[in-house]
Amino acid sequence: MHRHTCAARRLQQDRDSAIPAPRTPPYDSTVRGAILIVEDELVTQRLIAAGLERAGFEVMRATNVEEAAEAIREQLPGLMLLDWVLPTASGVTFLRELRTDRRTKQMPIIMLTSRSEETDKVTGLEAGADDYLIKPFSHRELLARIKAVVRRGAPLLGEEPVEFDGLKLDPAAHRVTANGDNVKLWATEFRLLHFLMTHPDRVYARSQLLDEVWGDHVFVEDRTVDVHIRQLRQALQPSGCDRMIETVRGAGYCFRTGAD
Ligand code: CA
Repeated sequence: MHRHTCAARRLQQDRDSAIPAPRTPPYDSTVRGAILIVEDELVTQRLIAAGLERAGFEVMRATNVEEAAEAIREQLPGLMLLDWVLPTASGVTFLRELRTDRRTKQMPIIMLTSRSEETDKVTGLEAGADDYLIKPFSHRELLARIKAVVRRGAPLLGEEPVEFDGLKLDPAAHRVTANGDNVKLWATEFRLLHFLMTHPDRVYARSQLLDEVWGDHVFVEDRTVDVHIRQLRQALQPSGCDRMIETVRGAGYCFRTGAD
């Protein structure tokens, strides 16, 4: 009977875990807001939460997408760690939904996955993940990824708009237009295009782009650049501006101006 009560209490605590912890500043200011952990394996969830809290982050927790959606409605997190395999709906499906919602479109999201196949990584990135971590990962690796993703998504304020052949990027307004039409880009593609447009007609190796655009790229693979270049080209394709991003075989990528 007593054991039953304890189990029930634990269950209640787990349900309560989706509710944001009371704010007791000062928090680490790297992330603007709390970090929402969406993970159904409770041991893993608690481990990540404890580590992040120790590092000074405010933490919110959810064990499925319904709890996560509810938590987001109450308080928009500054960043989300989203497990791939969840009980009622997959993390990737949820990720796609979040990317169509104006409120969560720009939220930095790192996918957590036990799968290591390349196709899955690409699927996650194409669905709008800013990065992915393969379980098991170290606490140090998690912190490095969080910092890198946040830095990448940081607004490029106070910079001048750049324009070439009808393609215009306005960093202050976080807006890209091609021949007057809006081009919707996620944070990483925006930053990538911004870098390329401010460094035109020069060839950059993948590793250089990782340095310049991703910052701390210790755990990011070169192939990640290719995925984001492909997405950037897809977004620019309707306007024909995609041809300005040139693949230089064996060398890298180049933003070509004045090309026909
Ligand atoms: Ca899981």
